[in-house]
Amino acid sequence: MVTLRSAWSVRRVVSTGVAQKRTLHAKTSPFPEKLAFAFDIDGVLKQGHHNVLPQAKRVLRLLSGADGRLPKPIPFLLITNGGGVPDEERRKALSEELGVELTENQLVQSHTPIKDYVDKYRENPVLIVGGKGESCRRVAESYGLKHAFIPQDIVAWKPSIWDRTELTEAERSFVRTEDFSNIPFSAALILHDTHDWGRDITLILDLLSSDKGIFGTRREGHNRADVKGDVELVFSNADVEWRSDWPIPRLGQGAFRLSLESVYKETTGLDLPYKQFGKPFKATYDFSELMLRRYLSSVGRDPKGPLNVYMVGDNPLSDIDGANRHGWSSILVRTGVFHDTHGEKPSHTPTIICDDVEKGVEWAIEQELRRGS
Ligand SMILES: [Mg+2]
Repeated sequence: MVTLRSAWSVRRVVSTGVAQKRTLHAKTSPFPEKLAFAFDIDGVLKQGHHNVLPQAKRVLRLLSGADGRLPKPIPFLLITNGGGVPDEERRKALSEELGVELTENQLVQSHTPIKDYVDKYRENPVLIVGGKGESCRRVAESYGLKHAFIPQDIVAWKPSIWDRTELTEAERSFVRTEDFSNIPFSAALILHDTHDWGRDITLILDLLSSDKGIFGTRREGHNRADVKGDVELVFSNADVEWRSDWPIPRLGQGAFRLSLESVYKETTGLDLPYKQFGKPFKATYDFSELMLRRYLSSVGRDPKGPLNVYMVGDNPLSDIDGANRHGWSSILVRTGVFHDTHGEKPSHTPTIICDDVEKGVEWAIEQELRRGS
């Protein structure tokens, strides 16, 4: 059997120097040209907030070419439903934690695909919801949005718009006060879990029923299905629950959306119109494949050729379902939320179940070498 170790072990190639070793290597070893990987982070590369799995470090060093065992890197990226900080900050922090230098095309947070999507709103006022403080405003601005406002800005303008909670001193230090009575919003973008559901649901409902996206107005026929609104609603993550360090799952952005849908239905009789990003949704997988191709281009390889992508994840609902629907191979690992110690079957069937990310990558490489792709 061809294993990852036998395929690229330095011991296979007798050489006297690193440069010579790599040259010989490239000539003598088969290389899976079409192979690419997409890794979930939590439960695959990390367990808990700070614990990076040692096998994850080894795998990323191999694929990136950092350990010198490969003649050239095998493309990979990380796809997480997490977010709330600008991609560049998260990329730097993860590079340090994981011990490999990730490039700009190798990290997809829940809101990263929104960057391309919201380019049309570059010059328009948008409401940015979620995250701590004004962290998501910084995310939006890093995506080129020039007029990104947050709920605290609106409350600072007219406290009576939501008088159930008061702005803190810290919030007062970063609010941007404007006269919002004549500022037309084009979109409300939920980029992370929100901290004040009552306030945020109220403000989003106001905008959805507004006349031309202006707070304090109400559109004629706002509760009629045939009259389209002026404000687009976008969510970055559909997870109803997520795991913090608390032993019981916590409510996430998906739960916020369910609440908003329910209140919107109750007050207008209509289904909530929205666009959804994040795993397992198509938009996120389409964007991730585009990122893999941008990465190939950045390392001088053909970005247009066929790719056999293997998604490695711990969550059948998001990682495996999304990968299967996108035509990728899927590898479910046992280091996160999925366990089959009592013979449990995953809700979505992966191509294979492996103990951990390293076993999964070894299996995928063997597959590709056997296929001769
Ligand atoms: Mg996970």
